[in-house]
Amino acid sequence: MKYVLVTGGVVSGLGKGVTASSIGVVLKACGLRVTSIKIDPYLNTDAGTMSPFEHGEVFVLDDGGEVDLDLGNYERFLDVTLTRDNNITTGKIYQSVLEKERRGDYLGKTVQVVPHITDAIKNWIEAVSVVPVDGKEGPADVCVIELGGTVGDIESMPFIEALRQLFFSVGQDNFCLIHVSLVPVIGVVGEQCVFVCVCAHARVQKTKPTQHSVRELRALGLTPHLLACRSAQPLLENTKQKLSQFCHVPAGNILNIHDVPNIWHIPLLLRNQNAHDVILKQLDLHGVAAPPHLQ
Ligand code: ADP
Repeated sequence: MKYVLVTGGVVSGLGKGVTASSIGVVLKACGLRVTSIKIDPYLNTDAGTMSPFEHGEVFVLDDGGEVDLDLGNYERFLDVTLTRDNNITTGKIYQSVLEKERRGDYLGKTVQVVPHITDAIKNWIEAVSVVPVDGKEGPADVCVIELGGTVGDIESMPFIEALRQLFFSVGQDNFCLIHVSLVPVIGVVGEQCVFVCVCAHARVQKTKPTQHSVRELRALGLTPHLLACRSAQPLLENTKQKLSQFCHVPAGNILNIHDVPNIWHIPLLLRNQNAHDVILKQLDLHGVAAPPHLQ
């Protein structure tokens, strides 16, 4: 199994879900079979008890699972039918570990976040990723995993550690990490343009938030292979160069996801930047064709 992990930095609501779904679309257009897993690092076992005012739409799956709305995006974008197990929450993981502990399955061991919770996360991912979701037989080729929340949150730490261990066990050729981040432009308030250079500086696309979130991710043992930068306008070439230099990611692996009028543009945006080439290369899928029919 090949894994594509999508993480997010700086702020929530950046578009990790839409980016992960769109990457799935691009890979599917390359002829690969794609499944997906959404990780929500909250203690609720599912989204069913969460206020839609706080959390947005609760998406109900065919098996009755009440899950995060991103799973709705995955089903619509990828034409798959997911199950409740495709949505992992901290609550579900702890519940399964505590049930095992009560049964005595740990044989008197001290039950800890590392290795018991992290092992439960890895085992869950490995078991769910091979379940076919597209009506065909056998496991999919690629599993896109979206880690909800923002890198650095206390809640997501066990998941990051579990994913780091998963990366280590499946190896370089089977794991591609895409970090979604924000590149803001700080506006000016319309002062007279006496100091032209100062004003020009004020309108520069800011790379520092992305630098910090990549540094945080790397401190946790994960270095992104691609950056997907959300910005109001397309990224400037010097912004990409700066991100590349400070984030340890080749400029060609920096994707731009600027604001679009509707989210169905995003797979095209990725295809036009040859995101598939970089991902297929990272996953050692050299013989796979480019996506011709993403119109
Ligand atoms: P996250 O998973 O990071 O919380 P989502 O994928 O749920 O974010 O997206 C949050 C919101 O932002 C959604 O309403 C989505 O439609 C919107 N969105 C995401 N990417 C873009 C974009 N490039 N342009 C415009 N809107 C976007």
